[in-house]
Amino acid sequence: MKAGTESSTRWPVISKDLRALAVAPNLIDYEQTCADFTWDEARSSLSGLPGGRGVNIAHEAVDRHASGPLAEHEALRFMSADGSAHSLTYAQLAEQTGRFASVLRGLGIERGDRVFSLLGRRPELYIAVLGTFKNASVFCPLFSAFGPEPVRQRLQLGAGRVLVTTKALYRKKIAQIRDTLPSLQHVFLVDAEGEPEPGTHDLAALMRTAPEYGPVATTHREDMALLHFTSGTTGTPKGAIHVHDAVTGHSATGLFALDLHPDDVYWCTADPGWVTGTSYGIIAPLVHGVTVIVDEEEMDADRWYSILAEQRVTVWYTAPTALRMLMKAGTERAAGYDLSALRFVASVGEPLNPEVVVWGEEAFGQPVHDNWWQTETGGIMIANYAATPIRPGSMGRPLPGVTAALVQRDADGLPLVRDGAAVLVTEADAVGELALLPGWPSMFRGYLNDEERYQSCFVGGWYLTGDLAKRDADGYFWFIGRGNDVIKSSGHLIGPFEVESSLMEHPAVAEAGVIGIPDPVAGEVVKAFVELRAGWEPSEALRLDIIGFTRKRLGAAVAPRDVAFTDALPKTRSGKILRRLLKARELGLPEGDTSTVEVKR
Ligand code: AMP
Repeated sequence: MKAGTESSTRWPVISKDLRALAVAPNLIDYEQTCADFTWDEARSSLSGLPGGRGVNIAHEAVDRHASGPLAEHEALRFMSADGSAHSLTYAQLAEQTGRFASVLRGLGIERGDRVFSLLGRRPELYIAVLGTFKNASVFCPLFSAFGPEPVRQRLQLGAGRVLVTTKALYRKKIAQIRDTLPSLQHVFLVDAEGEPEPGTHDLAALMRTAPEYGPVATTHREDMALLHFTSGTTGTPKGAIHVHDAVTGHSATGLFALDLHPDDVYWCTADPGWVTGTSYGIIAPLVHGVTVIVDEEEMDADRWYSILAEQRVTVWYTAPTALRMLMKAGTERAAGYDLSALRFVASVGEPLNPEVVVWGEEAFGQPVHDNWWQTETGGIMIANYAATPIRPGSMGRPLPGVTAALVQRDADGLPLVRDGAAVLVTEADAVGELALLPGWPSMFRGYLNDEERYQSCFVGGWYLTGDLAKRDADGYFWFIGRGNDVIKSSGHLIGPFEVESSLMEHPAVAEAGVIGIPDPVAGEVVKAFVELRAGWEPSEALRLDIIGFTRKRLGAAVAPRDVAFTDALPKTRSGKILRRLLKARELGLPEGDTSTVEVKR
């Protein structure tokens, strides 16, 4: 199967001049590093629990730094609404997380018990995550913006024993469902002052009186550490299980894919309610002993540019939807800020349109480095690296230690298996389902209470990701679409991403979502929903112009047959366009699980 067009390869390759880079990248010779790499060696770069007692994420991320030269180094810097900053050093973080573990222990919370959070990005969230690891319990972060039903569903599925939240969130979302959650024994309020809230604890008071915490509890590589519910782009949320050995993957990918160096000031804009916000907003950067910026507020172009400029951020990890919003706000906006400290920009979560990669050079003086992974993989699997050329529109090449391939699909879209082995795509630029060879440390170890579903992800020796992609002759992977989002029109296989990227090249288009709608002749035809940039108004003339524009680039078989204007594309809270929902709404079908849909404020 060939993809519909080759449009994404029209963009020139961005090559790197290593002498012009501010610091020498951690990965320089891609092929050699891949050839030499082993996960066991990566494990040996971690310290392990004292006395050979196993491995614990919090020890690697905090305690080993707190007892060494980084003790007084700034670990977390929280930016609050008024722009003021509040910091915790590695030593303070070690002390606070120990206290949190001690609080858990004092209440009889044990190894493997689930601790949930429903909190904004405030210090207590970060302390709770790491303190839970120290107690050998399991952490499950929830987006604070979830409504009562998704919160109830997840707490119930995950059998949460503890919930850390605020008074307002408790009153609004938990109090009325509390009696439906028999396993929820303790609720910690991070802002309990004032009138007491029945049935809750004052976390600050508990922390003040907690006895000093001894050594980090013994945990082993395969012990469960995190439970992450997937963002649900395709349906009901599933609880992906991650273990302490994942820290090996976070460490290696922080080194290679994010190019972390000890003096970095690093900002990951993702909320820990989404896996990126824990793997790369907490664990990977702290393991590398860098200073992590946490912004407690929501996205706003000027606020973000001020943070990048004033905090002298050097490495920035963000998402396509945010970058598109910044682009929509205009390059002039960026020009008003001193972004000279920034030396590496990366993006994840959705396909990154080539136009945005290139715009990065204009706006930040850096191209944007796309990388690919998902909740189930626990860490970055495919990436563009600081030292290697970027092919705009490509997600890059697999990380050292990661083997990726494409599995052929049969006419029904199912993976092809022969004699028990998956049939791999061998031809360059041909489409298949992206698959990974199991064995990397941050791989999920199960879906909570759903072994059958977990097993169904593995076929013929490979983990199947559900994404369609192609690989070019040089080993770069190109995203085509989620398996279910791909459009089949008159025999062409059309990836929505390619069409969306082409639409975004039109000067009026800020963001686009593309779906297939049934057509008696072609099977399906392409329909696009577009958000306009500031200063443009919807009109029939503009609609026709956009259709004509994409036709010229993509050809009539692939270009949208119809374009509709919208003020807000439906998205998940982690910023992914929900094509499934666009389609359901267009066709009047049931909307399915909408618990993770972002409501525009
Ligand atoms: P989640 O598990 O919610 O983080 O979603 C993972 C899915 O997001 C992947 O399977 C892809 O469909 C999509 N995704 C993540 N990163 C990228 C990327 N760089 N390019 C294209 N799609 C991506």
